Amino acid sequence: MGSRLHVVNEEKEFSSQLSPQLGEWGLSNAGFNYNVVSVFGSQSTGKSTLLNRLFGTTFDVMNESQRRQTTKGIWMCKAKEIPLLVMDVEGTDGRERGEDQDFERKSALFSLAASSVLLINMWEHQVGLYQGANMGLLKTVMEVNFSMFIANSQASFPESKPPKTLLLFVIRDHIGTTPLDNLRSTLTNDIENIWNSVSKPEGLAKADLSDYFDLGFVTLPHKLLQPDEFDHQTSTIRNDYFTKSTSGNYILKPEYHRQIPADGLSHYLQTIWDKVQNNKDLDVPTQQELLAQYRCDEIAAEALKVFHSRLIAVRKPVEVGKFVPELGKVMRDSKKEALDMFDSTAFRYTKTVYEKKREELTETISTTLSPLYINQVKNLHKKAIDSYKKELHARLKSDSYDFSNVVKESSIHHLQTFIDQAKEITLAGTDWSYIETLEQLKVDIDTVSADCRSDELIKLLNQLERSIQKDAGEFVEVSLNNPDAEMWDKVLDRFNALIERSKTSYVTKAKRLNSTDQEIKATTGSLLRRAWISLRNKIEEQCSESILLFRLRTIFEDKFRYDDKGIPRVWRPTDDIEAIYADAREYTLQLLKLYRNIKPQDINNLFTYPQLDDSVLDIIKVSDLEESYNYEESLQVLGEAKEAQLAGRFKKDADAIYVEAKRSVVSSISK
Ligand code: GDP
Ligand code: MG
Repeated sequence: MGSRLHVVNEEKEFSSQLSPQLGEWGLSNAGFNYNVVSVFGSQSTGKSTLLNRLFGTTFDVMNESQRRQTTKGIWMCKAKEIPLLVMDVEGTDGRERGEDQDFERKSALFSLAASSVLLINMWEHQVGLYQGANMGLLKTVMEVNFSMFIANSQASFPESKPPKTLLLFVIRDHIGTTPLDNLRSTLTNDIENIWNSVSKPEGLAKADLSDYFDLGFVTLPHKLLQPDEFDHQTSTIRNDYFTKSTSGNYILKPEYHRQIPADGLSHYLQTIWDKVQNNKDLDVPTQQELLAQYRCDEIAAEALKVFHSRLIAVRKPVEVGKFVPELGKVMRDSKKEALDMFDSTAFRYTKTVYEKKREELTETISTTLSPLYINQVKNLHKKAIDSYKKELHARLKSDSYDFSNVVKESSIHHLQTFIDQAKEITLAGTDWSYIETLEQLKVDIDTVSADCRSDELIKLLNQLERSIQKDAGEFVEVSLNNPDAEMWDKVLDRFNALIERSKTSYVTKAKRLNSTDQEIKATTGSLLRRAWISLRNKIEEQCSESILLFRLRTIFEDKFRYDDKGIPRVWRPTDDIEAIYADAREYTLQLLKLYRNIKPQDINNLFTYPQLDDSVLDIIKVSDLEESYNYEESLQVLGEAKEAQLAGRFKKDADAIYVEAKRSVVSSISK
């Protein structure tokens, strides 16, 4: 705490260490809860000694024996135990700086811009010397006070008046023969005279000194001659005037405060010094506004840095399409944190600037969060569709569902979940909206429902087709193995019964899937066509050359080798083998004719092949085969050529059997 800082060095350079030094003094977050005091006065009038006594500071004090000026430039210390910054300014005689009066003026401007209180240190015997060094300086202070604080005051101090300054005269080596009251009136008189001689801006010609300055007077005894009294008096001044207490005359009034938040002080003083150095106009309200902009930007940038770091964890997953459940909270929390962070420091700066910058920050935050929102809404849409699909298929697995109910319940549930979750991430105060996505979701859910329904219909049709295939396979084989005049009636009769059952089962299930009559009619047509094609394939298979040939041979053998009672014949020479052979062969060839066409005895048994209804194509896909199938042609089983070829091959087989029978008779005779 005892450290000090050379704020402006001998080369008139401003220190870069003020900001960290304020941090070390624990003032960075003090806001307005601090003050600045500066001291003025001729050289070697015990200013530094006074400050050290009053505030426990550690400014250099002139060595008694050397008597050389010690304070060069401007130093700063923090008062012990009080949130007060003390500036020790180079003495005003310019003795060692020669004619460099310039620096005095500049340091006066600088001090006035920062300090609530100017301590004017003077010997008692200087009182009344109107031309004294201090008095010239005071005139300067009063003049610049106008240009510095009043110029644009309306713009930047809209609610409060321009700040006041306390000029606290410290009269040193007070002997006591002239009472303080007399000294006060002499000095007050002098100061009024100075005030009157100061040229004032237009409209303020009649301004009172007391509008801008308060005057205070204290005396101190000789430090070396009356050390105890000196000590006593300095601690009284410290306690009475600079320490907040109920009994004292605390002099650091709020109206003296320059309204520079502690965190902006370093930047402010630096700018002020630069202006002063370059002899530029020093217009504090404008400086305050500029400072407000500068600091608000800085504070906002800091807040944004923290803000961005909070989003790192959620940004990537949201971008790659993952639904991040905690996103709403993260967005709200990080936004609040950033604004709180901004507010906690920035609110002390010029209100209009603060409000504007806050709006900008809010806007930046929203712009940053907006893509996260958009992506998350997209993710919600995808999640809703995926989950809806899953749920639909799962619920359709059960045996007893009502499709329209399932769709209704499930879609309401999914739309509501989407709305809830989208609302959750829609930040207040933004124009973000999920309505468009919601509308799209509704459309997509309808598409999913429709797709799911046609999937289920297709599944159903495929299942039925397979079971028709299996059943038809059995009765086709049985019927075709035992050809007779009713062969096709039997096949078709069984077939018609089978598809009647399948149709009933299909219609029941399709109705549960909410199919319209038209849809059912169209898709049932497909079921029937596919059933016929299955049947016809089975017939084709059962009428292949090898199977038919085998079948004819079996029929022939049964007829030729067995008698009417089913007893196997043992050929005797008396048997008319030839006649029996011719008879069996003819019988078999007659049966072969039955396989030519699918032609029932009873015309009613004939299957009615349904024509393709184009509307079916909206619901399911039909195979090319089904689309181009020629029912009439399918009624023909064997072509003429094929039949002739089969008959020929059969005759050869029959001949062989006949020859074999003949031989068996010859051999039995020769034995
Ligand atoms: P500064 O140049 O105004 O900062 O003065 P300093 O504080 O360095 O003191 C200059 C000299 O004045 C030193 O030798 C001090 O001992 C002496 N001094 C300090 N206080 C008093 C005082 O109250 N009366 C007198 N006569 N001398 C003092
Ligand atoms: Mg000094």
